Amino acid sequence: MARAFNFSPGPSTLPEQVLRQARDTMLEYGGAGASIVEISHRGPEFLEIAERAEADLRALLSIPDDYAVLFVAGGATTQQALLPLNFAAPGQRADYVLTGHWGQVATRQARPYVDLNIAASSEADGYRGIPPFEEWRLSEDAAYVHVTASETIHGVEFRPSAPGGHPFPDTGDVPLFADFSSSIASEPIDVSRYRAIYAGAQKNLGPVGIGVVIVRRDLLARAGQPRADIFDYRLQLEAGSMLNTPPTWNWYVAGLTFRWMLDEGGVEAFARRNEAKARALYAAIDGSGGFYRNGVDPAVRSRMNVPFQLHDPALDGRFLEEAGAAGLIGLKGHRVLGGMRASIYNAMPLEGVQALAAFMADFQRRHG
Ligand code: PMP
Repeated sequence: MARAFNFSPGPSTLPEQVLRQARDTMLEYGGAGASIVEISHRGPEFLEIAERAEADLRALLSIPDDYAVLFVAGGATTQQALLPLNFAAPGQRADYVLTGHWGQVATRQARPYVDLNIAASSEADGYRGIPPFEEWRLSEDAAYVHVTASETIHGVEFRPSAPGGHPFPDTGDVPLFADFSSSIASEPIDVSRYRAIYAGAQKNLGPVGIGVVIVRRDLLARAGQPRADIFDYRLQLEAGSMLNTPPTWNWYVAGLTFRWMLDEGGVEAFARRNEAKARALYAAIDGSGGFYRNGVDPAVRSRMNVPFQLHDPALDGRFLEEAGAAGLIGLKGHRVLGGMRASIYNAMPLEGVQALAAFMADFQRRHG
């Protein structure tokens, strides 16, 4: 069977070239006499892979030297618990800004450890926008402010460094922490605006099972809270992200994905492509005369995750079935919102989005 265009939100489509490279080295890696999944993470082959992955990620995201990069297992949710454990004193205030489901999940991971303050939330309007900065109630003594750069389910995105985009407000001396799981490497960002950035890899960075934490080194001097070694970012850094056996295969495939992105022209090239893809898809929705709808404030619509509803939900099943038959998969919306969602990360080519837009128009002609 041919590969379909896969709009899945994560795990999500990977570049075919990366999958082929991974396949070719699955049995035997570069003279090691064994597969990556069979050799020690402390051997020369894997240490070289790990070093190169970090160097490539630093180049890709222009990560300054005063930031450490950690490769972590446990996904983004685990980091949502580890951030307060590492960087907030027990019961210290921490500010959270909610622009969708994942911000809410982050509060559930932090609540046992901090005095949690919801500084702003667009929940009351169904997470269709970003609360105006004037309404943010930030605490002066907070350990940090936590934001979600791109909400994967609700399709709301800050565009912190984009011209004309929606930036984050200046939080002064209070460190800004950002969950970039669904938009990392989709366009250039100024890493120095954040004290910590984290992301699960399974959207723009590679396979699930690994994630990255990018943290300004001076933050690691914070005492945080009593915690086991394995939850300690400082110890992880000292151990080269290998306090225990890391997910070597996932790390390797993420590294291949970083290299692919660099070879394709880096984040500037992806910013242009992603803009074009998002424009095409939103045009298909907005131009449908209400057959398809996306209710997010157009100023903060996500370029990565495009949720949309059919005017008649009774057609949902048929839409998904026919889309699948047309080679378009992974479109079922999250249960929180229902309807459809097209995730159009870096590895989704413009042709995939064009094929989806053409299918949507055709489906409307037949069922409108
Ligand atoms: N944050 C965001 C923005 C996400 O989209 C997700 C997963 N879809 C998570 C956090 C949780 O990530 P994980 O499943 O890797 O824990």
